[in-house]
Amino acid sequence: MQPFVFAGLPARVVFGSGTLARLPEELDRLQRKRALVLSTRQQVDQAERVQALLGARAAGVFSDATMHTPVEVTERALAAVEAAQADCTVAIGGGSTTGLGKAIALRTGLDQLVIPTTYAGSEMTDILGQTEDGVKTTLRSPAVQPELVIYDVDLTLTLPRGLTGTSGMNAIAHSVEALYAVDRNPVISLMAEEGIRALGAALPKLMAAPHDRDARSDALYGAWLCAIALGGSTMALHHKLCHTLGGTFDLPHAETHAIVLPHAAAYNAPAAPEAMARVARALDAADASAGLHALGQVLDAPRALRDLGMPEAGIDAAADLAVKSPYANPRPIERAGIRALIARAWAGEPPVSG
Ligand code: NAD
Repeated sequence: MQPFVFAGLPARVVFGSGTLARLPEELDRLQRKRALVLSTRQQVDQAERVQALLGARAAGVFSDATMHTPVEVTERALAAVEAAQADCTVAIGGGSTTGLGKAIALRTGLDQLVIPTTYAGSEMTDILGQTEDGVKTTLRSPAVQPELVIYDVDLTLTLPRGLTGTSGMNAIAHSVEALYAVDRNPVISLMAEEGIRALGAALPKLMAAPHDRDARSDALYGAWLCAIALGGSTMALHHKLCHTLGGTFDLPHAETHAIVLPHAAAYNAPAAPEAMARVARALDAADASAGLHALGQVLDAPRALRDLGMPEAGIDAAADLAVKSPYANPRPIERAGIRALIARAWAGEPPVSG
């Protein structure tokens, strides 16, 4: 076994069905009295439900959370924090809403309570991506780590079929990369493998029955484990590639992850046989990248980057960007191989190992 550092698990987590009702007592535990509730415009109903639940302890609702955390939105939210004299935020939604809470925490030190409703996993990490003048940058800081996370399975029942599949693949991507991360450790690896197993079993069931509460529960449990894997290790090729593609061509986050993952796994497979064996075992498949590709098909996830609007000329541009700044990856980042990977993902072809 390689030497490792394990930093312990961040955040208090409350998990179950109907757990949203526990929010007032959790606010008391943190001794907070005025919560600004955050959401996207699409989830304003859920934000208003939280506001009603908190009564006098709700300082208002800010419902303009936006994908990739634009700094301009953060500045408007900061004005709302100030006007409402909020002493914490409650973010209800996916990674976009959690990102806004983190951006506020970075600038104010306010406590964050997060109620995730997708499988993206931002709630368990100290990572924040922000966009300014069209450029997305990422930072890691303990200041953005949420204090409390309430996973309420009931809130995921409304997650549309498409986003259920792609967001689930996004979560699995965290665990795949954690298993071969340069700073992997045995505890995170256990969680990563179990996270893939739980999601791999639950997501196909949800395609047939999106309101199956047991399958939703298993999927959210798996997403939580994958989120810990994301927060507990350094991501490599797959996440860097998705970041580049998403930022350069304005591609949607979860869909881009779902398309690229089998290809990134195929590229790294020759250099990470142990990790790939664990991914395959978790998916009950003979081969990791083929298993991920098959799962994407079962989930009816988009297959081609061109269908998300990426131009063909972008293949070379993305390959250039991908090899520009070095980072740890099991297999050396070579332009020819990366270009071939991106070209296959662009066209929607099956992954090719080696
Ligand atoms: P999202 O938060 O943008 O949500 C997508 C859409 O689905 C939104 O309109 C949202 O309101 C809606 N939605 C969410 N939950 C729903 C539900 N249960 N029912 C109905 N509609 C629902 O998407 P996402 O994929 O969760 O997050 C993507 C963003 O999060 C990206 O900006 C990404 O960079 C960031 N992210 C950050 C980290 C991190 O650690 N910093 C990790 C993962 C993702």
